[in-house]
Amino acid sequence: MKDFAINTAIDFDLPAPFMGRHLIAGAWVESAETFERLSPSHGVVVSVSAAGDADVTEQAIHAARQAFDSGEWSRASGKDRAAVLLKVADLIEANVDRIAVQETLESGKPISQSRGEVGGAADLWRYAASLARTSHGDSHNTLGSDMLGVVLKEPIGVVSIITPWNFPFWILSQKLPFALAAGCAVVVKPSEMTPSSTVMMGELLIEAGLPAGVCNIVLGHGQPVGSLMANHDAVDMVTFTGSTAVGKLITQSASNTLKKVALELGGKNPQVICPDADLDSAADAVTFGVYFNVGQCCNSSSRIIVHEDIADDFVARVVALSRKVKFGDPLDPDTQVGAIVTSDHNIKIDSYVQEALANGAKLELGGKALAVGGLVDQFYQPTVLSNVSADMAIAREEVFGPVLVVLTYRDLEEAIALVNDSEYGLSAGIWSENVHTCLEFARRVEAGTVWTNTWMDGFPELAFGGVKQSGQGREIGRYGYDEFLEVKSLVMRVGRSREPWVQQGV
Ligand code: NAD
Repeated sequence: MKDFAINTAIDFDLPAPFMGRHLIAGAWVESAETFERLSPSHGVVVSVSAAGDADVTEQAIHAARQAFDSGEWSRASGKDRAAVLLKVADLIEANVDRIAVQETLESGKPISQSRGEVGGAADLWRYAASLARTSHGDSHNTLGSDMLGVVLKEPIGVVSIITPWNFPFWILSQKLPFALAAGCAVVVKPSEMTPSSTVMMGELLIEAGLPAGVCNIVLGHGQPVGSLMANHDAVDMVTFTGSTAVGKLITQSASNTLKKVALELGGKNPQVICPDADLDSAADAVTFGVYFNVGQCCNSSSRIIVHEDIADDFVARVVALSRKVKFGDPLDPDTQVGAIVTSDHNIKIDSYVQEALANGAKLELGGKALAVGGLVDQFYQPTVLSNVSADMAIAREEVFGPVLVVLTYRDLEEAIALVNDSEYGLSAGIWSENVHTCLEFARRVEAGTVWTNTWMDGFPELAFGGVKQSGQGREIGRYGYDEFLEVKSLVMRVGRSREPWVQQGV
């Protein structure tokens, strides 16, 4: 029996490296300094980007501030804003292939998943367009015969958007259309590892007719670009997706001006497998949950908590499925798991696995780097570890790779305690045919999203975000949109019935 399903390199004419520039006040801007991105799977330069510095970041923030204050977008009607967002959605769909290939070349993720990510993002833009037209505040007509109260919702102002490398186009689309729908002006900084799809988005925004300066893009690193975007006094809000460690730095930088901070951070997301579960479906979902996006996913179901009576059977099912998952060339449309984003990260993944083995974990599958013919040696074997205890680093920290750890439980109380014994609280899932078990679990676990008998389904209508050290604030849905709005109370007297405070003639 062969060990793993491996797709070796396919013939593919790699495009010339994408040349990325900043977008400031509607103009493309070069920098004397540039930085390159090597494809994790093919080892060649796939993009060359302008390297932002403090000056260019200042210019971008200034352009956003001016655009916001001009009112051209911030005071435009919802109908006009929605028209631009809908046009962007159409343009995304017309450009899926070009954007998806670049995203795969920079991130190493399978092309089928890049296409899904880019094409699927169009729906986020359409949903945000619907909110631009339908959002409203409140009126209070019960304050007394001479009083009328109105709660207005207004755009919060200039927003800094800082994104990671693992879903560059999707995460940008979880933030940008909602900020624009609300009337904000923005400065965006994509990850230095995957800058190009954000630049391509800039091209689409111009084509769709977004006024100059409403969306500015600065390419570059956390220092100095990201940190200036987080602490600048002309910025009203920073929305960040990335690691918990950087999220804490952003909070510190932002405290300087007390600007609003929204954070989408890491997770150590558990799926609980009950004895009465549909084990075929659960095993398939666990396999998907841990290998999707090469396991480099904030929602990765990287730990499963299985009832001890079915643990051996369930692990055997997951191992059998893991051998069938297709690893290899991310440009092959048939590939399900691609390359690890950097060689350093591959080494970090392996160090978690080796440390767990040294501490008594049992290797059920994988456990080392994987060679894929014709490609860079930057893949990691599908890996399953059992006999893992809840105090091991591999059970508590985000490994961010194709590595699954298995813990066991005896009753639901213990399972819920294990779920909640985490610094993180992004998502959690349960597999059971008993609706009471599912509801009990859903109400008691500490997580921003709970899935019952499914994993990683998401919709633009539903809020997304985490509790504890997985973040603060929400994205998408009406709650995510509201993050980009300020609330103002308007109090109006009707008529002249008020008793004077100062008595006349006394
Ligand atoms: P990262 O924190 O290293 O970088 C994210 C972004 O922050 C990049 O653009 C980076 O250049 C920038 N940055 C770095 N230092 C900065 C600083 N001091 N100030 C401002 N910006 C700075 O994260 P990553 O490695 O790109 O992404 C992986 C992490 O993102 C994982 O922890 C993952 O769980 C998390 N993530 C969370 C979600 C979610 O929605 N909860 C989604 C995707 C990824």
